[in-house]
Formats: sequence, C-alpha cells, structure tokens
Amino acid sequence: RPPALTPTKSSPASTPTRKVPGSFRVMQWNILAQALGTHADNFVKCPPAALQWNTRKYRILEEIITHQPHVVCLQEVDHYKVLEQVLAKLGYQGVFMPKPDSPCLYLPNNSGPDGCAIFWDNTKFKLVSKETRIVEVWHVQSNQVAILLILEERTSGKQLVVLTTHLKARQGALLSSLRNEQGKDLLAFLSEHRQIHPTIVCGDFNAEPSEPVYATMIDERTGLASAYALLHGGKEPPYSTWKVRGEQDCCHNIDYIFYTPLSLHVEGGLDVPTEDDLGPGRAPNLAYPSDHFSLVCDFTFLPNPDART
Ligand code: NDP
Ligand code: CA
Repeated sequence: RPPALTPTKSSPASTPTRKVPGSFRVMQWNILAQALGTHADNFVKCPPAALQWNTRKYRILEEIITHQPHVVCLQEVDHYKVLEQVLAKLGYQGVFMPKPDSPCLYLPNNSGPDGCAIFWDNTKFKLVSKETRIVEVWHVQSNQVAILLILEERTSGKQLVVLTTHLKARQGALLSSLRNEQGKDLLAFLSEHRQIHPTIVCGDFNAEPSEPVYATMIDERTGLASAYALLHGGKEPPYSTWKVRGEQDCCHNIDYIFYTPLSLHVEGGLDVPTEDDLGPGRAPNLAYPSDHFSLVCDFTFLPNPDART
C-alpha cells in the first residue's frame, strides 16, 4: 500500500493524512531531459555531480518509487528504456511519445528525442485504450505531443481517462497565445475520446495561472479544475519549478494536475519543496534531480451522478 501523503500546509482541514481506501495516486513530473539539463539549460549553480545521469537516474526512480503512484505522467523523458526496465519490475507498464523534432537531438551525447510518458500500476489499472497526438496549432502540427489513456480500475471496473502533455516553452505574447491554441487542441482531443469518464489532465503547460491557456483548461465547459489550487485554498502554489539559469532566478508555477470535480474527489497532495529545502542553488541539486518538482495527488472516484436516485 502506498505511503500516506503529507497534507499541504495551506490545504483545507479536511485533507486526510492517511491513504483513503479505494483511492488512486497520480504523479505529474517534468523530470528534466538529460541532454537539455547538461547542454542547454545553463544551470550554473548546480553541482556537476548532480547533473550526471548516473546520479539522476537513481534519484528520479527513487522519487517515483517513494511515492508509489498508480499513474505517473512524465515530460522531458529522454531515457525511456531505463525507466521502463526498472518500473516494469515493480509492476508498471508504460507508453512513450517522442517529440517530432526534439531539441535533444541537436545536443552532444544525446540519448534520442525527449517526449512524454505515462506509466500505470498494472495491478491497479488495466489499459483499455491508448492514443497519442502531435498537438496542433491552427490545424498545423507543432513540436509538442500528448498521450491519452483510458485505464480501468481492476477491482471496480471504473474507467479513468489520463492525458499528459508538455506545451511549448519560452515567454512572450505570441508563445502565450500559441500555448492557448495548444490547450484548445488538447481539449478537442480529449472530447473525441473521453465521453463522460472521470478525467485527469497532467502536464508541464509552460504557463503561469495568469496565461490564457490556464483559463482555457478550467473553463466551466471543460469540467476540469486544478487539484493543487483546491489544495491551496483556491490559488495555485507559488512555484512548481525553481532554477538558476545564468544570472536569472527562475521561479514559476507552470505544472498542473487538472481533474473532473464532478466525478473525482481530491483526498490530498504533496507539497512542493520549500525555499530552505532547495537552498540557494535551487534545483536541480543532489536531492532534487529536476528543476521541476513532482506533483502528487490522491483521488477517489465519486459515485456516478446518473446512478443516484
Ligand atoms: P521548446 O521551446 O518547447 O523548448 C524545448 C525545451 O527547452 C523545453 O524542454 C524547455 O524546458 C527548455 N527551455 C525552456 N526555456 C529554456 C531556456 N531559457 N534555456 C534552455 N532551455 C529552455 O522547444 P520545441 O519543442 O519547440 O523545439 C525547439 C525547436 O528548436 C525544435 O523544432 C528544434 O528543431 C529546434 N532546435 C534546433 C537546434 C539546432 O541546433 N538546429 C537546437 C535546438 C532546437 P521547460 O519546459 O522545462 O521550460
Ligand atoms: Ca526543461
């Protein structure tokens, strides 16, 4: 049985400290592509040892295994095989979708393209269907991808839709509207496959809550809400990534777990590390192998409203 989650500090009092029977746990994490972290990101304050793959792979796996999520949504995966090999021994199955023209491919010592991956605990869920998509902007394919799975809880037969993505990076008005178009395309993709199932949409959206794509994702027509906003009294946490790039301290909240509150209940969530936890060099470091922090949430299925009398 997975360990209990520490309730978030500013979470509502009702957040339980113990794992709720019948719940399932979801992890969202941009794990930092090895090629990008070593050759593109300019993490000037990161100790070199903390950036070595031989260090990072154990820390990434340790973090996943510690939390024992039933569903793991990852971005910037450029060593899928290593994760798959180890996680398969622990009962997980996975799907990987590379970016069409991954920036990793242009960097020295790369291990192939980076992309999104979803792993699920095969003893808890069985795979019903899987779809992958190259995200479109104004009907033209972009360099961003998404994976959509329908999973079925083995004990209850309840189905869950899980979608993960990593939207276009970088700041500016044009890129912000491009991300918004990518969000709309994801919602269209979701509505093609989702029907009325409980749904989780996880990802690195590369967008603060003030960006249009955030409002697009939680527009009332989507039926989605942000789990971490709920756990933090209605507001997103201050950051999901914090790094020093060259001279710049980059602290942003851009990673989210969206869910359907009509069919899923949030039981608890994991706090992101504090400023003291991170230290002056921020992340990555020897304790935190990515510049993004893992978001971990427990959910329970709510009774089907159609089944109520
Ligand atoms: P994105 O703009 O989405 O970014 C790619 C990655 O860069 C993300 O994982 C992002 O991480 C990271 N990133 C964001 N900001 C910075 C920064 N300031 N410094 C370093 N890394 C950062 O890329 P696309 O997927 O749109 O791909 C880029 C395109 O560029 C590709 O089409 C590729 O062909 C091209 N390219 C060409 C190169 C060449 O040598 N010819 C070299 C590199 C790319 P996060 O999400 O965590 O912010
Ligand atoms: Ca990155």
